[in-house]
Amino acid sequence: MDNVTEVYNFSAGPAVLPVSVIKKMQAEQPSFKDSGMSVLEISHRSSLYEEMFHQAKSDLRKLMKIPDTYEILFQQGGATLQFTATALNLATKQKRIGLIDSGHWSQRAGQEAQLVGVEVDPVASGQASGYTELPYQLNLTGAYDYLHITTNNTIEGTMYRRLPATEGNLLVGDMSSNILGQSYDVNDFGLIYAGAQKNIGPAGLTIVIVKKDLLGQAQALPAMLDYSKQAKKDSALNTPPVFAIYAAGLVFKWLLDLGGVAAMQKRNEKKAALLYDYLDNSTLFKPAVTKVSDRSTTNVPFMTGDEALDARFIEEATAQGLLNLKGHRLVGGMRASLYNAFPYEGVEALVAFMEKFAKTVGEK
Ligand SMILES: *Cc1c(COP(=O)(O)O)cnc(C)c1O
Repeated sequence: MDNVTEVYNFSAGPAVLPVSVIKKMQAEQPSFKDSGMSVLEISHRSSLYEEMFHQAKSDLRKLMKIPDTYEILFQQGGATLQFTATALNLATKQKRIGLIDSGHWSQRAGQEAQLVGVEVDPVASGQASGYTELPYQLNLTGAYDYLHITTNNTIEGTMYRRLPATEGNLLVGDMSSNILGQSYDVNDFGLIYAGAQKNIGPAGLTIVIVKKDLLGQAQALPAMLDYSKQAKKDSALNTPPVFAIYAAGLVFKWLLDLGGVAAMQKRNEKKAALLYDYLDNSTLFKPAVTKVSDRSTTNVPFMTGDEALDARFIEEATAQGLLNLKGHRLVGGMRASLYNAFPYEGVEALVAFMEKFAKTVGEK
């Protein structure tokens, strides 16, 4: 294993980071850019910080091909605060949004928007399939400030490869668990947000990509929640999460070196295919998502159908260094999160262990 910790970490978030990035952070710790200070200690008003911030921003712009008509904000509060912030900033005219309900996180987005007085119209739902299939057909009635979509459903294990037809409505996307792991056209969205701790870096940073002409419609928002104030101050209205931005910047460089999002998408498809190929042929393990075109490449839930056996599997896998495979309580069973930094060898190790486990329990 070339993983520093000598384990494979299948955690859904905070999640695995590239080994080379961890090593670089370690090497740069005592003295960041020969300043005699570590990056944990530098001022957010220093040129050291500003250089790092602008580099990270421009690398992200390059990676996602973000047009100049979009602002990139580095925020805090996680994706969860963006459920509210997007509503406060963008749901100003109709005070009404359409929610594409593809699972737990989209429902949370709807609930938080309602808390700030926005009407939430469920325009589509995956409920009939138990959220194992994605809704594509939207039932749009009247005017909306925007439609909200969760591009990858971290818990349910589904992912939009093509976006539903929005009939000219603005689209807001929560990309927390597949940003930079799957190619999307930024132009299809008015706003994209993502917590960094799944597919980018450590927790504490939240990415917001917003079309500039959408800024400034909201009146009298708390400054921290006001995108246009944040944009004017380069996301440093108050002390930004310096370390998380630094780490994200290193991950962006790592991604650029490896060929960017298209290359990552290929790698992710290959990893997910290896696991799904095994699951589809196993008589012991079953994938939670059977519709192939809706399957996420970054989060793969599966189970045996027997809770006690699932628990035993997780326990024995953990002992083998295959960590954090326990599924989310809403789905049960197991979940393998295979984000960008997760190595192919880790999936091979998991499949080899599943084969062995299936034999020892006498595969049906
Ligand atoms: C994890 C997750 C969230 C919540 O993220 P926080 O940054 O912890 O608020 C929201 N949406 C999706 C799709 C997620 O995977």
